[in-house]
Amino acid sequence: MSFQNKIKCPNCGFFNTNSDYCVKCGTLINPKLKRDLEDKKRVAEQKAKEQATPKSKFGQFIERNRAHKNIIIRLFFQFIYGIWFIVMAIGAFIAWLFAAVAA
Ligand SMILES: [Zn+2]
Repeated sequence: MSFQNKIKCPNCGFFNTNSDYCVKCGTLINPKLKRDLEDKKRVAEQKAKEQATPKSKFGQFIERNRAHKNIIIRLFFQFIYGIWFIVMAIGAFIAWLFAAVAA
């Protein structure tokens, strides 16, 4: 005897047996699978968003000059980069603090 899992299609109302997709209209009807797919989609969107965010012009400028062939310029930009990094870290901390206070 096999386990029968009947799911009513929310789209067309057809009762499906042991199926992840409605046999009539093809709508995804397995709630677990649907949730998994939505989670995957959300993660993918989040990743795409992070990758799409370009570094600031200033950040790019610093990054480029950190690899400069002149040691003085390189050291100078590494110093600037260090300060910039600390400023960014403090900014992130303040943002986090505001979020924590507002919550
Ligand atoms: Zn259907």
